[in-house]
Amino acid sequence: MPPPVFRFAPSPNGYLHLGHAYSALLNFDLARRAGGRFLLRIEDIDATRCRPEFEAAIYEDLAWLGISWESPVRRQSEHFARYREAVERLAGLGLIYPSFESRAEIARLVAQREADAPWPRDPDGAPLYPGAAKSLSPDQRRQLIAQGTPYALRLDMQAALARVQELAWHEKGAGPGGESGVVAAQPKAWGDVILARKETPTSYHLSVVIDDALQGVTDVVRGRDLFWSTSVHLLLQQLLGIPQPVYRHHRLIEDASGHKLSKSTQATALRELRGQGVTPADIRSRVGLPGDARNTTGSC
Ligand code: GLU
Repeated sequence: MPPPVFRFAPSPNGYLHLGHAYSALLNFDLARRAGGRFLLRIEDIDATRCRPEFEAAIYEDLAWLGISWESPVRRQSEHFARYREAVERLAGLGLIYPSFESRAEIARLVAQREADAPWPRDPDGAPLYPGAAKSLSPDQRRQLIAQGTPYALRLDMQAALARVQELAWHEKGAGPGGESGVVAAQPKAWGDVILARKETPTSYHLSVVIDDALQGVTDVVRGRDLFWSTSVHLLLQQLLGIPQPVYRHHRLIEDASGHKLSKSTQATALRELRGQGVTPADIRSRVGLPGDARNTTGSC
Protein backbone atom coordinates (compact mmCIF):
# COMPACT_ATOMS: atom_id res chain seq x y z
CA MET A 1 0.00 0.00 0.00
CA PRO A 2 1.42 3.42 -0.89
CA PRO A 3 1.56 5.80 2.07
CA PRO A 4 -1.44 8.08 2.63
CA VAL A 5 -1.10 11.66 1.43
CA PHE A 6 -2.39 14.61 3.47
CA ARG A 7 -2.34 18.28 2.60
CA PHE A 8 -2.89 21.72 4.07
CA ALA A 9 -4.14 24.17 1.45
CA PRO A 10 -4.35 27.77 2.70
CA SER A 11 -5.14 30.84 0.61
CA PRO A 12 -2.61 33.65 1.04
CA ASN A 13 -5.23 36.34 1.53
CA GLY A 14 -4.45 37.08 5.17
CA TYR A 15 -2.31 35.93 8.07
CA LEU A 16 -2.80 32.43 9.46
CA HIS A 17 -4.66 32.23 12.77
CA LEU A 18 -5.25 29.60 15.43
CA GLY A 19 -7.82 27.83 13.25
CA HIS A 20 -5.25 27.34 10.48
CA ALA A 21 -2.70 26.19 13.04
CA TYR A 22 -5.13 23.50 14.18
CA SER A 23 -5.85 22.34 10.63
CA ALA A 24 -2.19 22.33 9.58
CA LEU A 25 -1.00 20.58 12.75
CA LEU A 26 -3.79 18.01 12.59
CA ASN A 27 -2.90 17.12 8.99
CA PHE A 28 0.79 17.02 9.82
CA ASP A 29 0.27 14.85 12.91
CA LEU A 30 -2.07 12.44 11.11
CA ALA A 31 0.41 12.10 8.26
CA ARG A 32 3.25 11.39 10.68
CA ARG A 33 1.22 8.92 12.68
CA ALA A 34 0.22 7.02 9.53
CA GLY A 35 3.73 7.09 8.05
CA GLY A 36 2.25 9.23 5.29
CA ARG A 37 3.23 12.31 3.30
CA PHE A 38 2.32 15.89 4.09
CA LEU A 39 1.95 18.48 1.33
CA LEU A 40 1.44 22.22 1.46
CA ARG A 41 -0.54 23.81 -1.34
CA ILE A 42 -0.97 27.53 -1.90
CA GLU A 43 -4.49 28.28 -3.14
CA ASP A 44 -3.83 31.64 -4.74
CA ILE A 45 -6.24 31.80 -7.65
CA ASP A 46 -7.77 35.09 -6.52
CA ALA A 47 -5.22 37.62 -7.75
CA THR A 48 -7.14 40.51 -6.19
CA ARG A 49 -6.93 39.17 -2.63
CA CYS A 50 -3.77 37.04 -2.51
CA ARG A 51 -0.52 38.78 -1.67
CA PRO A 52 3.14 37.62 -1.67
CA GLU A 53 3.68 38.82 1.89
CA PHE A 54 0.86 36.56 3.11
CA GLU A 55 2.39 33.61 1.28
CA ALA A 56 5.80 34.33 2.83
CA ALA A 57 4.11 34.52 6.23
CA ILE A 58 2.48 31.11 5.69
CA TYR A 59 5.90 29.46 5.23
CA GLU A 60 7.29 31.30 8.23
CA ASP A 61 4.37 30.55 10.56
CA LEU A 62 4.18 26.85 9.61
CA ALA A 63 7.94 26.37 10.06
CA TRP A 64 7.67 28.08 13.44
CA LEU A 65 4.96 25.60 14.44
CA GLY A 66 7.41 22.79 13.70
CA ILE A 67 5.74 21.69 10.47
CA SER A 68 7.79 20.57 7.46
CA TRP A 69 6.45 19.87 3.99
CA GLU A 70 7.55 18.50 0.66
CA SER A 71 9.04 20.65 -2.10
CA PRO A 72 8.12 22.03 -4.51
CA VAL A 73 4.99 23.58 -3.08
CA ARG A 74 2.17 23.63 -5.61
CA ARG A 75 0.91 27.17 -6.24
CA GLN A 76 -2.41 27.14 -8.03
CA SER A 77 -1.76 30.38 -9.91
CA GLU A 78 0.95 28.54 -11.86
CA HIS A 79 -1.44 25.90 -13.17
CA PHE A 80 -4.25 27.79 -14.84
CA ALA A 81 -3.75 25.83 -18.07
CA ARG A 82 -4.64 22.60 -16.21
CA TYR A 83 -7.86 24.01 -14.86
CA ARG A 84 -8.78 25.47 -18.23
CA GLU A 85 -8.36 22.01 -19.73
CA ALA A 86 -10.82 20.56 -17.22
CA VAL A 87 -13.37 23.30 -17.93
CA GLU A 88 -13.02 22.50 -21.62
CA ARG A 89 -13.64 18.82 -20.95
CA LEU A 90 -16.80 19.63 -19.05
CA ALA A 91 -17.83 22.05 -21.79
CA GLY A 92 -17.26 19.25 -24.30
CA LEU A 93 -19.81 17.20 -22.34
CA GLY A 94 -22.29 20.07 -22.69
CA LEU A 95 -22.20 20.84 -18.98
CA ILE A 96 -20.96 24.43 -18.99
CA TYR A 97 -22.64 27.67 -19.97
CA PRO A 98 -21.61 31.32 -19.63
CA SER A 99 -23.71 33.77 -17.62
CA PHE A 100 -23.25 37.49 -18.02
CA GLU A 101 -25.03 39.17 -15.11
CA SER A 102 -22.99 41.36 -12.76
CA ARG A 103 -23.20 40.79 -9.00
CA ALA A 104 -25.54 43.78 -8.75
CA GLU A 105 -27.83 42.37 -11.44
CA ILE A 106 -27.94 39.03 -9.68
CA ALA A 107 -28.84 40.75 -6.40
CA ARG A 108 -31.61 42.62 -8.20
CA LEU A 109 -32.98 39.42 -9.76
CA VAL A 110 -32.97 37.70 -6.38
CA ALA A 111 -34.79 40.65 -4.81
CA GLN A 112 -37.41 40.46 -7.57
CA ARG A 113 -37.92 36.74 -7.01
CA GLU A 114 -38.13 37.26 -3.27
CA ALA A 115 -41.14 39.51 -3.72
CA ASP A 116 -43.15 36.24 -3.92
CA ALA A 117 -41.30 33.75 -1.76
CA PRO A 118 -37.83 33.25 -0.27
CA TRP A 119 -35.32 32.41 -2.98
CA PRO A 120 -33.22 29.29 -2.25
CA ARG A 121 -29.71 29.73 -0.84
CA ASP A 122 -26.71 27.45 -1.15
CA PRO A 123 -25.13 25.85 1.94
CA ASP A 124 -22.91 28.94 2.32
CA GLY A 125 -25.97 31.17 2.39
CA ALA A 126 -25.53 32.69 -1.09
CA PRO A 127 -28.60 32.81 -3.34
CA LEU A 128 -28.72 30.22 -6.12
CA TYR A 129 -28.21 31.60 -9.62
CA PRO A 130 -31.50 33.28 -10.54
CA GLY A 131 -30.71 34.14 -14.18
CA ALA A 132 -31.71 32.62 -17.48
CA ALA A 133 -28.33 32.54 -19.24
CA LYS A 134 -28.70 28.80 -19.86
CA SER A 135 -31.25 29.55 -22.54
CA LEU A 136 -29.17 32.08 -24.52
CA SER A 137 -28.44 30.91 -28.03
CA PRO A 138 -24.86 30.11 -29.12
CA ASP A 139 -24.95 33.27 -31.24
CA GLN A 140 -26.03 35.47 -28.36
CA ARG A 141 -23.24 34.00 -26.22
CA ARG A 142 -20.64 34.55 -28.90
CA GLN A 143 -21.78 38.11 -29.39
CA LEU A 144 -21.67 39.01 -25.70
CA ILE A 145 -18.22 37.46 -25.35
CA ALA A 146 -16.96 39.26 -28.47
CA GLN A 147 -18.20 42.54 -26.97
CA GLY A 148 -15.95 41.94 -23.98
CA THR A 149 -18.82 41.41 -21.49
CA PRO A 150 -17.50 39.80 -18.30
CA TYR A 151 -18.86 36.30 -17.73
CA ALA A 152 -18.87 33.36 -15.36
CA LEU A 153 -18.78 29.77 -16.58
CA ARG A 154 -21.38 27.78 -14.70
CA LEU A 155 -21.96 24.08 -14.29
CA ASP A 156 -25.37 23.08 -15.60
CA MET A 157 -26.31 21.21 -12.44
CA GLN A 158 -29.33 19.45 -13.89
CA ALA A 159 -27.37 18.13 -16.87
CA ALA A 160 -24.42 17.19 -14.64
CA LEU A 161 -26.60 15.22 -12.22
CA ALA A 162 -28.12 13.31 -15.13
CA ARG A 163 -24.65 11.93 -15.90
CA VAL A 164 -23.72 10.54 -12.48
CA GLN A 165 -24.83 7.85 -10.07
CA GLU A 166 -25.85 8.70 -6.55
CA LEU A 167 -22.93 10.33 -4.78
CA ALA A 168 -21.80 9.59 -1.24
CA TRP A 169 -18.62 9.91 0.75
CA HIS A 170 -17.12 8.32 3.81
CA GLU A 171 -16.81 11.00 6.48
CA LYS A 172 -14.22 10.31 9.17
CA GLY A 173 -14.94 13.52 11.08
CA ALA A 174 -18.33 15.18 11.29
CA GLY A 175 -20.49 17.73 9.54
CA PRO A 176 -22.06 20.86 10.99
CA GLY A 177 -25.17 18.89 11.94
CA GLY A 178 -23.17 15.95 13.30
CA GLU A 179 -23.26 14.01 10.00
CA SER A 180 -20.73 11.18 9.88
CA GLY A 181 -20.12 7.77 8.37
CA VAL A 182 -21.54 7.48 4.88
CA VAL A 183 -22.92 10.87 3.86
CA ALA A 184 -25.16 11.36 0.82
CA ALA A 185 -23.86 14.26 -1.26
CA GLN A 186 -26.34 17.00 -2.15
CA PRO A 187 -24.78 18.90 -5.05
CA LYS A 188 -28.17 20.17 -6.20
CA ALA A 189 -28.23 22.45 -3.17
CA TRP A 190 -25.50 24.54 -4.84
CA GLY A 191 -27.40 25.26 -8.05
CA ASP A 192 -25.42 26.14 -11.16
CA VAL A 193 -22.09 26.78 -9.41
CA ILE A 194 -19.44 28.95 -11.01
CA LEU A 195 -16.44 26.91 -12.16
CA ALA A 196 -14.46 29.71 -13.84
CA ARG A 197 -14.68 33.38 -14.74
CA LYS A 198 -13.48 35.43 -17.66
CA GLU A 199 -10.55 36.77 -15.66
CA THR A 200 -9.89 33.62 -13.56
CA PRO A 201 -10.06 30.34 -15.48
CA THR A 202 -10.95 28.33 -12.38
CA SER A 203 -12.72 28.40 -9.02
CA TYR A 204 -12.11 26.98 -5.57
CA HIS A 205 -14.26 23.91 -6.29
CA LEU A 206 -12.58 23.05 -9.56
CA SER A 207 -8.96 23.60 -8.63
CA VAL A 208 -9.21 21.84 -5.27
CA VAL A 209 -10.57 18.71 -6.93
CA ILE A 210 -8.01 18.71 -9.74
CA ASP A 211 -5.08 19.35 -7.44
CA ASP A 212 -6.07 16.75 -4.87
CA ALA A 213 -6.17 14.20 -7.70
CA LEU A 214 -2.95 15.36 -9.37
CA GLN A 215 -1.10 15.35 -6.09
CA GLY A 216 -2.43 11.92 -5.13
CA VAL A 217 -4.10 13.23 -1.97
CA THR A 218 -5.80 10.32 -0.21
CA ASP A 219 -7.05 12.11 2.92
CA VAL A 220 -8.66 15.53 2.82
CA VAL A 221 -8.67 16.92 6.36
CA ARG A 222 -10.19 20.40 6.57
CA GLY A 223 -12.61 22.59 8.52
CA ARG A 224 -16.27 21.79 8.96
CA ASP A 225 -17.16 25.02 7.12
CA LEU A 226 -16.23 23.17 3.90
CA PHE A 227 -18.27 20.07 4.71
CA TRP A 228 -21.07 20.65 2.17
CA SER A 229 -18.63 21.80 -0.52
CA THR A 230 -17.67 18.14 -0.62
CA SER A 231 -20.94 17.50 -2.48
CA VAL A 232 -19.73 19.58 -5.43
CA HIS A 233 -16.28 18.03 -5.21
CA LEU A 234 -17.68 14.50 -5.51
CA LEU A 235 -19.76 15.52 -8.50
CA LEU A 236 -16.73 17.02 -10.27
CA GLN A 237 -14.64 13.94 -9.45
CA GLN A 238 -17.21 11.69 -11.08
CA LEU A 239 -17.64 13.92 -14.12
CA LEU A 240 -13.89 14.16 -14.64
CA GLY A 241 -13.24 10.50 -13.79
CA ILE A 242 -10.81 11.18 -10.97
CA PRO A 243 -10.44 9.37 -7.66
CA GLN A 244 -12.35 10.29 -4.53
CA PRO A 245 -10.29 10.79 -1.39
CA VAL A 246 -11.47 10.10 2.15
CA TYR A 247 -12.77 13.18 3.99
CA ARG A 248 -12.39 14.26 7.58
CA HIS A 249 -13.96 17.58 8.47
CA HIS A 250 -12.72 18.90 11.77
CA ARG A 251 -14.18 21.26 14.36
CA LEU A 252 -13.54 24.97 13.95
CA ILE A 253 -11.59 26.94 16.47
CA GLU A 254 -13.75 29.77 17.80
CA ASP A 255 -13.02 33.03 19.54
CA ALA A 256 -14.09 33.77 23.11
CA SER A 257 -17.57 34.78 21.95
CA GLY A 258 -18.07 31.57 19.96
CA HIS A 259 -17.49 33.02 16.49
CA LYS A 260 -15.44 31.45 13.72
CA LEU A 261 -12.00 33.06 13.55
CA SER A 262 -11.37 35.44 10.70
CA LYS A 263 -8.17 36.28 8.86
CA SER A 264 -8.76 39.95 9.50
CA THR A 265 -8.76 39.81 13.30
CA GLN A 266 -5.31 40.38 14.70
CA ALA A 267 -5.97 38.77 18.07
CA THR A 268 -5.52 35.19 16.97
CA ALA A 269 -2.99 35.70 14.15
CA LEU A 270 -0.06 33.37 14.73
CA ARG A 271 2.54 36.07 14.16
CA GLU A 272 0.81 38.30 16.69
CA LEU A 273 0.81 35.52 19.27
CA ARG A 274 4.44 34.72 18.49
CA GLY A 275 5.31 38.39 19.09
CA GLN A 276 3.67 38.12 22.51
CA GLY A 277 5.98 35.25 23.46
CA VAL A 278 3.47 32.42 22.89
CA THR A 279 5.31 29.18 22.00
CA PRO A 280 4.39 26.47 19.46
CA ALA A 281 3.68 24.17 22.41
CA ASP A 282 1.22 26.77 23.79
CA ILE A 283 -0.50 26.86 20.38
CA ARG A 284 -0.86 23.08 20.40
CA SER A 285 -2.44 23.17 23.79
CA ARG A 286 -4.70 26.14 22.93
CA VAL A 287 -6.16 24.24 19.96
CA GLY A 288 -6.44 21.00 21.93
CA LEU A 289 -3.72 18.92 20.27
CA PRO A 290 -1.29 16.78 22.28
CA GLY A 291 2.34 17.93 22.49
CA ASP A 292 3.50 14.73 20.83
CA ALA A 293 2.22 14.30 17.26
CA ARG A 294 2.13 10.51 17.73
CA ASN A 295 -0.70 10.90 20.24
CA THR A 296 -2.95 12.82 17.89
CA THR A 297 -5.95 10.63 17.25
CA GLY A 298 -7.78 12.96 14.94
CA SER A 299 -11.02 12.64 16.86
CA CYS A 300 -12.34 16.03 15.89
N1 GLU B 1 -8.08 27.08 0.44
C1 GLU B 1 -9.16 26.75 1.31
C2 GLU B 1 -9.19 27.71 2.48
O1 GLU B 1 -8.21 28.37 2.74
C3 GLU B 1 -9.07 25.33 1.85
C4 GLU B 1 -9.33 24.34 0.81
C5 GLU B 1 -9.52 22.90 1.27
O2 GLU B 1 -8.93 22.50 2.28
O3 GLU B 1 -10.23 22.17 0.60
O4 GLU B 1 -10.20 27.79 3.15
